[in-house]
Amino acid sequence: MKLLRILTNQNGISRRQAKALLAAGRVHVDGERCHDPDLDIPRFREVCVDQRIIQSAAPSYYLMLNKPSGYLSATRDDQHPTVMELIDPLLRPHVHIAGRLDRASTGLLILTSDGVWSRRLTEPAVKIPKVYRVTTAYAISPETEDRFREGIWFEYEQLRTSPASLEPLGEREVRLTIYEGRYHQVKRMFHAVGNRVTSLHRESMGGLTVDGLEPGSYRHLSAQEVSSIG
Ligand code: URA
Repeated sequence: MKLLRILTNQNGISRRQAKALLAAGRVHVDGERCHDPDLDIPRFREVCVDQRIIQSAAPSYYLMLNKPSGYLSATRDDQHPTVMELIDPLLRPHVHIAGRLDRASTGLLILTSDGVWSRRLTEPAVKIPKVYRVTTAYAISPETEDRFREGIWFEYEQLRTSPASLEPLGEREVRLTIYEGRYHQVKRMFHAVGNRVTSLHRESMGGLTVDGLEPGSYRHLSAQEVSSIG
């Protein structure tokens, strides 16, 4: 629909007033000042006059799910159930996964329709802490902590992982904090020090923690939780 029409459509704004608002630079479309009354505006673009919303942007969804083992972090699969099957069918077409977990891994998984927000959560440069409880096949050596703090060289990507920290929980169990989310990152880090991950549970990403959610259930994030990321 033309911008002029949106402005005058049951908003108590006359054509003359709308043209004056456009000329004065008081109309914004998705945050950008707009002067053209004939601009075609698709649905779900936010149109504002000063701070007043005339047409709303598409609603954004922000979900946290406690992923159970055995579910793929994918939208569809012929062999295995996917995490999408755990959420309301009406939400499925709108959301994508921000930071996958392997099929056997459990814990915090974020699904959202907001691509800009999810990039902040997952981009290594932003350095949002991701906390995992990890159990390994063999005793975790004292050198592991030093090696992880120095960063592990990933040959395939030709990069060193950011410094990670370990909190020992038992002979074969630690709480690990990393600041990236590279492919199989935790498993590859332990593999690099001669160990093997036997179970992996993501407890938190930034200030978002999965505590209190039953495995397989999900909830919408609060506005405060959404704004805590970046
Ligand atoms: N690192 C892994 O190796 N697997 C996961 O599921 C998450 C992080």
